[in-house]
Amino acid sequence: MPTPPFFPAHPLPYGRQHVTDADVAAVAEALRGDFLTQGPRVAEFEAQFAAYIGARYAVAVSNGTAALHLCALALGVAPGQRVITSPLTFAASANCVLYCGGEVHFADIDPATGLLDLAQVRRLLAAHPRGHFQGLIPVNFAGLAVDMEQARALADEFGLWIIEDACHAPGGSFVDRRGQAQRCGNGRFADLAIFSFHPVKHIATGEGGMVTTNDEALYRRLLRLRTHGITRDEASFVNPGEGGWYMEMQELGYNYRISDINCALGLSQLARAEAGLARRRQLAARYDAAFALLAGVTTLAPGRPGHAYHLYVVQVADRRGLYDFLKARQIFAQVHYIPVHRMPYYERLGWQKGDFPLAEAYYARCLSLPLYPTLTDEEQDYVVACIREFTNQ
Ligand SMILES: *Cc1c(COP(=O)(O)O)cnc(C)c1O
Repeated sequence: MPTPPFFPAHPLPYGRQHVTDADVAAVAEALRGDFLTQGPRVAEFEAQFAAYIGARYAVAVSNGTAALHLCALALGVAPGQRVITSPLTFAASANCVLYCGGEVHFADIDPATGLLDLAQVRRLLAAHPRGHFQGLIPVNFAGLAVDMEQARALADEFGLWIIEDACHAPGGSFVDRRGQAQRCGNGRFADLAIFSFHPVKHIATGEGGMVTTNDEALYRRLLRLRTHGITRDEASFVNPGEGGWYMEMQELGYNYRISDINCALGLSQLARAEAGLARRRQLAARYDAAFALLAGVTTLAPGRPGHAYHLYVVQVADRRGLYDFLKARQIFAQVHYIPVHRMPYYERLGWQKGDFPLAEAYYARCLSLPLYPTLTDEEQDYVVACIREFTNQ
């Protein structure tokens, strides 16, 4: 079937933000307010986000990478400590361990989902004495939820903490042993979970990130680390207070704060998060139905409940050919991800091609198609028609 006469008015990226007039008005209001940063919108965004995710505490930060860095610091990552993550993720999931002087290790993926394979993690853990590894950073790849109940049981067995990288899955969930849906990042299983508000993610703030947790001590530590390691909380002073101005820098922290301006946008976006998620799922179901009829196009875990659909991934034999074919037709698909261990920096640390063959085989065939709430049915049909043409069907 030839490419239909419809041609998109603008290029179709794999993901993009949805900013409404209400969002613009909310940001304008913040700009006219008394605080451009560290004002009331930060705490409001934290409270509403925590409620949305179902966690007790949330700490808003300058971006998702800063969130990961603060989590690694709060959990005590330091030289000599070893942390396991997925090779199929954005580099930041692993880099946060290196920022703190720790060692990153990987286990291979489950090719049916792209998620870190907990059976492979177990094999890695069991091959070393207890205490060799300190932490686990599973990633809700593409929006598919990791079974955090299983991850927690494994982590407890081997004495590990968990940072759940939930950047792809705000609003996503898995079903626990008792048949109950558990939201990604809800703090029931992971010690800490992190989110990003980069424009390609579900909720955009420009730059922005969030940590969620149910652990009050970790929550307090994160608040301090976010602002230079400084506290104004009298009850926790090491030295006697000297007056109203007094504060203490108690450890080496950073300026990883987010502004009121960003949080104004985040609050306005959060109000539409459920609607955006519903549209993503609707579009994914339309893709699933179309590709079920196409030979040579494999989809990732189609129809899995709780999928938050940050990405819609297809796998084809001639991935490079399909990428170029779509690009020539104004469709800017993307590859998620070049496995972290194949990055030159990680290769210099000793990792090499062949170390994680399932992640590498996945990478060789994967392509993320346009998926975002404002993608129209007509635009999506055009994407499908182009893929049908590419596969001569
Ligand atoms: C986007 C992303 C990050 C980093 O978030 P930033 O806000 O861009 O720093 C980390 N992990 C994953 C899986 C991501 O998708």
